[in-house]
Amino acid sequence: MFRRTKIVATLGPASSSTEMLGTLIDAGVNVFRLNFSHGEENDRRELVERVRRLAEQRNSSVAVLADLQGPKIRIAGFRQGPVLLRSGHPFRLDTGLGEHDGDEHAVGVAYPQLVEDCSAGDILLLDDGFIELEVVSVESGAVHCRVVSGGTLSDHKGLNRRGGGLSAPALTEKDREDIVGAVEMDVDYLALSFPRDAADVNEARELYRRAGGRGGLVAKIERAEAVAEERTLDGIIRAADGVMVARGDLAVEIGDAELVGVQKHIIRRARELDSFVITATQMMESMTHSRQPTRAEVSDVANAVLDGTDAVMLSAETAVGKYPEDTVRAMDRIILGAERAYQNRSVRERPREPFERVDESVAVAAMFVANHLRGVRAIISMTESGSTPLMMSRERSGIPVFAFTPHAHTRRRVAIYRGVYTVAFDSEDYPNAEVNQKAVAMLVTRGVVEEGDRLVITKGDYVRAHGGTNAMKVVQVGESIH
Ligand code: PGA
Ligand code: MN
Repeated sequence: MFRRTKIVATLGPASSSTEMLGTLIDAGVNVFRLNFSHGEENDRRELVERVRRLAEQRNSSVAVLADLQGPKIRIAGFRQGPVLLRSGHPFRLDTGLGEHDGDEHAVGVAYPQLVEDCSAGDILLLDDGFIELEVVSVESGAVHCRVVSGGTLSDHKGLNRRGGGLSAPALTEKDREDIVGAVEMDVDYLALSFPRDAADVNEARELYRRAGGRGGLVAKIERAEAVAEERTLDGIIRAADGVMVARGDLAVEIGDAELVGVQKHIIRRARELDSFVITATQMMESMTHSRQPTRAEVSDVANAVLDGTDAVMLSAETAVGKYPEDTVRAMDRIILGAERAYQNRSVRERPREPFERVDESVAVAAMFVANHLRGVRAIISMTESGSTPLMMSRERSGIPVFAFTPHAHTRRRVAIYRGVYTVAFDSEDYPNAEVNQKAVAMLVTRGVVEEGDRLVITKGDYVRAHGGTNAMKVVQVGESIH
């Protein structure tokens, strides 16, 4: 059985060696995330080349996603290592303190607007919500707080405000430079951190295109503002190619009790709007130190699969964890179990507006036929850009979609779509009348279909035309195929 839901693994010291990268690809990683918050540009470039080389050797399509740091607000450092903040005690965030001036009374923050963005009564969260502060008063240059929930605080931990509203724009100077670097590496996806609305996404798209980028754009949903209103979220989803439920920052801003409902809503909306979606953060967190996931983590991964996510993501587990390979294998196993338990053969047609596009009509019609006609085991989509397989995979189905394309960048791009697999294939290599037969033969060779199985094939009249899919055909293995 094919695993439909895809795995994104974050690269880091634990996963960067040639040997470990190969192992992780073999264990089932479909997309590697390159975190631009850490590391040097030269190392990143080398890493992307290594991933590409190893994937090519294995004949597999593995995408690279470059994740921009964004305006994550962080505290500065401490003079003498980590400090213990005690509940009930005062603590000051001071924009005037230097990089190494922090102690148990105060720490620097290199974000001058903090004092304008905060007022008495606000809740500020440090280190992904691990430490909670309440703002008591604000004076020029400093925010005076009371520690509500204490703990040990070390250098450069993140700072969020409950309810959102820290006003930093989505693209920093560093992000703008990193976009150019990402384009030079020819990454398959660029992820934008902390977009507030569609305008932020459009600005990133503009910069990315102007720099020559041709990958897809992923908007990370991690600010309270992004989900506060329906039309803001819809706007972000429409402006991007895909979204990430970035639960680390999102949960801190909206509160953990809201997270499950919001996750389900984002996944559903993304699918409805023909976008793809990644569910991220702390999915298998305990496996950073342990060989086995907790029952809660097993349920969390399975739940995201049942919600309909395209991909689930590993962060620290593969970046700095002790057991990257075990983690990917566990994730693979859990996804397969969840998919077995919930076979989507029973199809729910989603309500639709009249179709605007011919390729969309054909994609949906093909899925309807595949889901309802007896004996269909696979779908072949001859595609240039991968947009037909994306639309196909927005329909719930247990039948695999094979993107047949001559373009390596399209094969990498569709690697993140749920239920979509790739075959390197150029229909121009064959006479017109033999193309379908050759394509089907390739799936027979791979053991996907056998004598008597049916397949649905879609394609366009003109090869090399994007969005040109305008035809669908049903064929059967063993009968003459044209
Ligand atoms: P990060 O994004 O890992 O870059 O913070 C994901 C998240 O916030 O969940
Ligand atoms: Mn984040």
